[in-house]
Amino acid sequence: MSRDQRVRHNWALLFARYKAALMQKPLVVVFTLAPAFLGAPLRHYDFMLKGLQEVETDLRSLNIPLLLLQGEPTEELPRFANARSANTINAGAMVTDYSPLHISRRWKSAVAQQLTIPLYEVDAHNIVPCWLASGKLEYSARTIRPKINALLGNFLTPFPALEPLPTTPREPLVEWESVRQKLHADPSVPAVDWLLPGEKAAADCLNSFIQQKLSGYALERNDPNADAISNLSPYLHFGHISAQFIATKVMASQTLEEDRKAFLEELIVRRELSDNFCAYNDHYDSYDGIPNWAKETLAQHNGDKREYLYTAEEFERSATHEPLWNATQHELVQSGKIHGYMRMYWAKKILEWSRTPMEAFDIAIALNDRYALDGREPNGYAGVAWSIGGVHDRPWFEREVYGKIRYMNANGCARKFDVQRYIKRWML
Ligand SMILES: Cc1cc2nc3c(=O)[nH]c(=O)nc-3n(C[C@H](O)[C@H](O)[C@H](O)COP(=O)(O)OP(=O)(O)OC[C@H]3O[C@@H](n4cnc5c(N)ncnc54)[C@H](O)[C@@H]3O)c2cc1C
Repeated sequence: MSRDQRVRHNWALLFARYKAALMQKPLVVVFTLAPAFLGAPLRHYDFMLKGLQEVETDLRSLNIPLLLLQGEPTEELPRFANARSANTINAGAMVTDYSPLHISRRWKSAVAQQLTIPLYEVDAHNIVPCWLASGKLEYSARTIRPKINALLGNFLTPFPALEPLPTTPREPLVEWESVRQKLHADPSVPAVDWLLPGEKAAADCLNSFIQQKLSGYALERNDPNADAISNLSPYLHFGHISAQFIATKVMASQTLEEDRKAFLEELIVRRELSDNFCAYNDHYDSYDGIPNWAKETLAQHNGDKREYLYTAEEFERSATHEPLWNATQHELVQSGKIHGYMRMYWAKKILEWSRTPMEAFDIAIALNDRYALDGREPNGYAGVAWSIGGVHDRPWFEREVYGKIRYMNANGCARKFDVQRYIKRWML
């Protein structure tokens, strides 16, 4: 278990259970806790470990043990699997979930090379498995949408129940306190308390979204004061909830079609497009990964005079001249998330006020990955690449600094929502 940290509605776990039954073997769920995952601070480890603790309890009720290995996955997992196959238990196969990120792909191929048993990879994150949705880098939502829609019906099948194992596991329970003590996660980005981690909290979040917010989503989702969006992204990021389960619940809800459609477009098309971007673009987290038209136009405007210039450290401290931008950065640092509409504004102003677009790209990725609870995620890399590098977008009217990259400004925000109210909320 890696990206999809849940017991319910998890195709990778269901497949592992099926395989175990077929091979007449016991089933063990293994999570390897790497000492540092892309610089994740305490905020992320706290959310993840609490979620995993719940996974352990729920698995135990099905007689399935959770084992937590600590160390480098490329060393710990082969050691674990090969030791198991050498003793009486004799491991028969390993099943893993899917992520398009470099680190995960590197881990998997290194583990696969050292295993003597088959390794299966199951995409439990996307509704249409990433490699089936498309075999190439897609240009935009317009090009991937029909491909996903054509296959969606095949994959929106009901989840079977996860069958319990017949006997109580002999493996000891994880000692969570000692796991926490051994962590070296940066405490300067503390845990959040406004969003509880875990599968149950994720299910509650989905239910209250459907009951209280989905109706009106199409109209209000771009107003950061409206509390109209789902807040499901941290749960989706850690795999505490299945996107397929969310989609079926939303489809079955008694809400206007325009609200359901608007939400499903984000949850399915935009989200799965991000996985496509990372799966087929080796430079998804750097300026090199943006399209040629964007590189050309940004290069032509690289020498343009910037009205304001800030360093990475000034951005991080919300020390710009503009209260609205500072409020977005405060929202990120304090809550671990920026409202979806403001995320675009936040990244575009980093482009406008940095020395070069390359520097802007790196600053936006670093801040998003460090503070956002849903950071280090394909959506984040695609979001930054869209805002700063025109990925999945098209050329717009040419202007200073941005070239043909789509522009946003504070006046545009003021036409959409009460900017002062947003600033007041986050600058206190
Ligand atoms: C610069 C920038 C950085 C971003 N960083 C992240 C990130 O680190 N993690 C992350 O999950 N999303 C990121 N996004 C995408 C989007 O802003 C968030 O998914 C959304 O704000 C999450 O809040 P929500 O779950 O309440 O959204 P809702 O509006 O309720 O959307 C429901 C779900 O749909 C998906 N979704 C919504 N908008 C997008 C989008 N534009 N692209 C892809 N999927 C989308 C997400 O999975 C989201 O949880 C970023 C966007 C930009 C412009």
